[in-house]
Amino acid sequence: MAHRVTLIPGDGIGPEVAAAARLVLDAADVGIEWIERAAGSSALETQGELMPEETLEAIRDSRVAIKGPITTPVGTGFRSVNVALRQGLDLFAAVRPARALPGVPIRHPSVDLVVIRENTEDLYAGIEFERGSEGAAGLRAELKELGGYDVPEDAGITVKPISVSGTQRIVRFAFEYAKANGRAKVTVGHKANVMRYSDGLFLQTADEIAAEAGDGLEYEAIQIDHLSNRLAHDPDKFDVLLLPNLYGDILSDVCAGLVGGLGLIPGANIGWEYAVFEPVHGSAPDIAGRGLANPIAMILSGAMLLRHVGEPAAAENVEWAVDEVLRRGEVRKPDLGGTATTMEVGQEIAVAVSAWEHGPS
Ligand code: NAD
Repeated sequence: MAHRVTLIPGDGIGPEVAAAARLVLDAADVGIEWIERAAGSSALETQGELMPEETLEAIRDSRVAIKGPITTPVGTGFRSVNVALRQGLDLFAAVRPARALPGVPIRHPSVDLVVIRENTEDLYAGIEFERGSEGAAGLRAELKELGGYDVPEDAGITVKPISVSGTQRIVRFAFEYAKANGRAKVTVGHKANVMRYSDGLFLQTADEIAAEAGDGLEYEAIQIDHLSNRLAHDPDKFDVLLLPNLYGDILSDVCAGLVGGLGLIPGANIGWEYAVFEPVHGSAPDIAGRGLANPIAMILSGAMLLRHVGEPAAAENVEWAVDEVLRRGEVRKPDLGGTATTMEVGQEIAVAVSAWEHGPS
């Protein structure tokens, strides 16, 4: 087998979309050896942990993984598995392309955006102090002494660290990505006028690197609230969006909405050593286990994986097959107005992959 890939089906609709994606990637016939491992509630039930060490080991060993979404229990003290995975493997860059797909009716049919999101810092760094805890009391006292800040006694506290080193690598990554993928413009989103020492530092670092490594790429910086407004009106005016962690999470979902919904948007989490591919959507408990989930986001995440492991022709084949099935419009998921099941869509795309006669262009 040419490529070892760890497959984590995940929770909710994860196993359904993972099975469809596996079918399609197998049809691309590049010799993938699948190492299947659990994470999320299924792992909690069988192995007592949301992210078992053997799953992390498998990713470290294969270096490349594709995962379905994982349910994070809310307000129970569980730390998000996704956040832990991104930090544990130092997957510092999230790449989330949102392009208009054929046959999907949308308001702005020429949208072709990529969100590049910093993945390890910011409010998602996981530095949190629970309301009423000893840690929160200590931090409040420290903040009072250091800066005279009065944090209410009943406040929970989440810390927002943004570093020069963390920002430099994501900004360089964004410019390299833009150049390698024929993109014309990088837009950075921030709120530096309010968060001067975190967003301010992100902005200043991005400005400096743009000046030194921009290489003819257009560069602009826009406040995040204004950027959100402009995205709603003129999404086709944007190209690569470079964002700190929290804004990147939120605007990825906005971009998914712009091109037809969460079921269509793939994603990659990339670090120096490892890469984990996953759809932008979550585990969708409202439709899980009923064959209603659209597998296209997971399948397109698989195409990103193929490109990453040096199989660009196979990646192009999968993307072409997705477009082709959507263009024909015969097999459609309920979120696109059809009645096909998750696996029927996967099978149709797999058949199109096998029938591909175009060869790499
Ligand atoms: P969600 O993305 O699961 O669902 C939002 C809406 O989009 C729902 O109506 C759902 O039915 C729909 N949807 C999502 N994916 C779809 C698909 N492939 N096809 C058709 N419709 C689809 O977001 P949520 O409800 O906020 O989160 C549910 C759970 O997923 C939470 O526990 C959350 O923490 C988790 N989550 C995990 C990840 C991840 O593992 N990467 C990402 C986001 C959310």
